[in-house]
Amino acid sequence: SKLKLRLEKSRKGFMRQVDDLLFGKSKIDDELLDELEELLVTGDISVSTVEEIFSQVRSEVARSELQDGEALKTRLKAIISSMVKVTDHDIPWEPTPYCILMVGVNGVGKTTTIAKLGYHLKNQGKKVLFVASDTFRAAAIEQLQTWGERLDIPVIHHSPGADPSAVAFDGIQAALKRQVDVVLIDTAGRLHTKVNLMEELKKIRKVIGKRLDGAPHEVLLVLDATTGQNALNQARQFHEVTPLTGIILTKLDGTARGGIVVSITNELKLPIRFIGIGEKMEDLEPFEPEVFVDALFS
Ligand code: GDP
Repeated sequence: SKLKLRLEKSRKGFMRQVDDLLFGKSKIDDELLDELEELLVTGDISVSTVEEIFSQVRSEVARSELQDGEALKTRLKAIISSMVKVTDHDIPWEPTPYCILMVGVNGVGKTTTIAKLGYHLKNQGKKVLFVASDTFRAAAIEQLQTWGERLDIPVIHHSPGADPSAVAFDGIQAALKRQVDVVLIDTAGRLHTKVNLMEELKKIRKVIGKRLDGAPHEVLLVLDATTGQNALNQARQFHEVTPLTGIILTKLDGTARGGIVVSITNELKLPIRFIGIGEKMEDLEPFEPEVFVDALFS
């Protein structure tokens, strides 16, 4: 499958080593377990999640429930599957206009992801609207407009420096008037000025919530998979700034350490909604835990 191909770096990276380590092993000893632990950490499964996995594995080994490399691999896959499965429901996309606030620091692929999501939704026959509430950078507005033109998706914007919540309000007004299905609101990702960002997002939420009951319906954080444990830290910080409903993980094609997926879901208990697996518009896929783990382990 395409996913399998795009996860090639991770599959050939740490997963291949896991395979090599466990292949043909007729017994499990401490040395093997230590080595396996280390491999998972190099695959960007964080130390605390690896410890959690191994507290289960070690007690099962002690009770002789796991006897060889093959059984250990099967068990590992099952534990990881259950950790990744916090995505127990899909985005309902209702009521309409369904309003999504997109947050994330610069460079993670936020603008591209908004474009990809717009493209994905349009292909499903949905009417989409982009809102340029990242008014801090002129380039952010321009970039979104360029995508809007290319995808034939309207973009609500003001001038650089305008009040982000005023733009968001206009976006919601326009969405209601034009009977749009999904509104994607781009926001500034200035995590280094955390207090300002918090105030800004709070104000956006308040203003759009007043105009449209329940808005925003989702707050999705875009994270770059190639930044590893940094991504996890960003997620923690954003979650403090504003409550998140999910994650979009980009650039999974560009990392050999796909284990970051396990850390994010297990430690943040937040569902990954979509994954970016390339630079093209069609390279965004809904995240399906089982399909992902199968692709990683195959
Ligand atoms: P922003 O600053 O967060 O808005 O980032 P951009 O949307 O401008 O993207 C930064 C770079 O990341 C661009 O070169 C994108 O093509 C690239 N990018 C975004 N998503 C992916 C992905 O899933 N895979 C790969 N390989 N590149 C991506």
